[in-house]
Formats: sequence, structure tokens, C-alpha cells
Amino acid sequence: MGDRVAIITGGANGIGKACARRLSEDGCQVVIADIDQESGQALADELGADKGKALFVSCDVSDRLSVNNLLAETRSAFDRLDVLVNNAGIVAKGDILDLSENDFDRVIGVNLRGAFLVAREAAKQMVEQIEEAGERLEDARRRYAIINMSSVNGVVAIPDQLAYCTTKGAIDQMTKSMALALAKHGIRVNAIGPGSINTDVLKSVNDNPAALDKIMSRTPLQRIGDPDEIASVASFLASRDASYITGTVLYADGGRLALNYTVG
Ligand code: NAD
Repeated sequence: MGDRVAIITGGANGIGKACARRLSEDGCQVVIADIDQESGQALADELGADKGKALFVSCDVSDRLSVNNLLAETRSAFDRLDVLVNNAGIVAKGDILDLSENDFDRVIGVNLRGAFLVAREAAKQMVEQIEEAGERLEDARRRYAIINMSSVNGVVAIPDQLAYCTTKGAIDQMTKSMALALAKHGIRVNAIGPGSINTDVLKSVNDNPAALDKIMSRTPLQRIGDPDEIASVASFLASRDASYITGTVLYADGGRLALNYTVG
């Protein structure tokens, strides 16, 4: 994986942070894009910002100019882009009877519009590089990858997470549409569908035995997943080992989607 440059959005915390660490271990130069400047810069420092191995860029993915700036900073630091982990995401509580328009727009803005804006600019940059270098399709497919962070909630749903579930279902379709459009350029596009993973998003659940029991009753592997277990899937999808995989969602969910009823 050496000599590749990867952008990880929402890379300052949780799953994105684990992905940034793992891709850095894999030999990528990593660009951590996040609104959390303190954690993002600290991670970039840890991963070797001073040696040109990592860069933090303050970026709100829902804002077009901020996304344009992310690509400009990436080009100016590393001159290229090979991998995008399109991971930034938020939640907002609310079902169809009580979700506010503002919360709906906010979640769509980050999880869907944000994923689209970053993917669009990243894909343009990748296509330009492939054309400029006259890369053979087979070589490009081993190098270029876009990985969208979906969720099991793209398929199953939670009533009071209407906005979130809506965005993850849409991300699955966006993944397919992008994969089809970019296949002829040699860029693979896939998504990861995590189950319940131990990040800040799950904090409230971890402190609440009843809520944890509820999750376990729907988790055949009987534990919460670790962010590293999602990062390893991102590493695989970004690698040459995944050179024939595009347009798919890979689930790392402890068996949840296979389960009808509940675990006894
Ligand atoms: P997290 O809250 O720990 O991290 C999300 C990161 O995104 C944070 O660093 C945050 O600052 C950043 N972010 C938020 N809004 C942003 C914006 N507008 N622009 C740029 N960055 C922004 O969450 P996580 O659990 O690591 O989730 C990461 C992704 O994984 C999300 O897309 C989430 O939907 C998905 N996911 C998480 C789980 C889980 O159980 N944790 C399960 C399935 C899918």
C-alpha cells in the first residue's frame, strides 16, 4: 500500500480514527478531515504530521467550500489522492411524528450531502490522475478505492432514528450508482455496514444495562464491535486484495442481519 494517499472524513474520533491509524500502518499518507480540530490535529501529530505522513484539515463535509478546501489542501501537501474513507456521520433522535425539519436537514446534510460532496470531489481528482498518468485499468483498480461508511441501518431500521436510517439506505444506493459510473475509470466503490461499534455514539448504551441487553439480544456474536474491526474491513476494501470487489456493502455486524427473532 505504500505511496498512496488516503482521506478519512470524520477521522478524528471513533471508527474514522481507527481507519486513519490502520491505513497509516498500511503505509498510506493520511489526511484526517473533521470538524473536531483538537482531536484531529492530535491524531495527525501521532501519525507523523511532522514527517509528512499525516495531515489534519478542518472540514465540515456538509459545506461545499470546506470540501473544496479539503481537496486543495490534500493536493498541496501530497499531490494526489488514492483512497477515500467517506465516514463522517451524525445522529438525531426523532420518529416520523416528532423529528424536526432542522434535525432531518442536519443529518441529511452531513451523512448524505456530505458524503456526496466529498465523493464527487475525490472521484474527480482520482479520474484526473488516472487519465494524466495513462494508468492501465487493472493497475488503477488495485490503487483507487472509495469506501462509504453505511450501517446495518441501511437495511433494517430504528423508529426514532428516521433521519439516520434514511441516510444509510441512501448511502447504499449511492455506493452502487458511484461504483457503476466509476468502473470504467478503474475506481472501486464499496460500503461498510457496521453493527453496534464501541464509539461515542454508543456511550449512552454502554452505561445502560437494559439498552445493552436489548442490543445483545440482536447480536449473535454477543458483544459490541471494536472500531479496529471496522478499520480492518476498510483496509481490505482499499487493498489490492479487493481488486474485483465493487458496488457492494460488506457487513461487520456480529451476525445481526442474519438473525430473525432474537438471541435466546
Ligand atoms: P463518532 O461520533 O465517534 O465519530 C464521528 C466523527 O465525525 C467525529 O470525529 C465528528 O467530529 C465527525 N463529524 C461530525 N460531523 C462532521 C462534519 N459535518 N464534517 C466532518 N466531520 C464531522 O461516530 P462513529 O461511531 O465513529 O461513526 C462513524 C461512522 O460510522 C458514521 O458514519 C456512523 O454512521 C457509522 N456507523 C457507526 C456505528 C456505531 O455503532 N458506532 C454503526 C454503524 C455505522
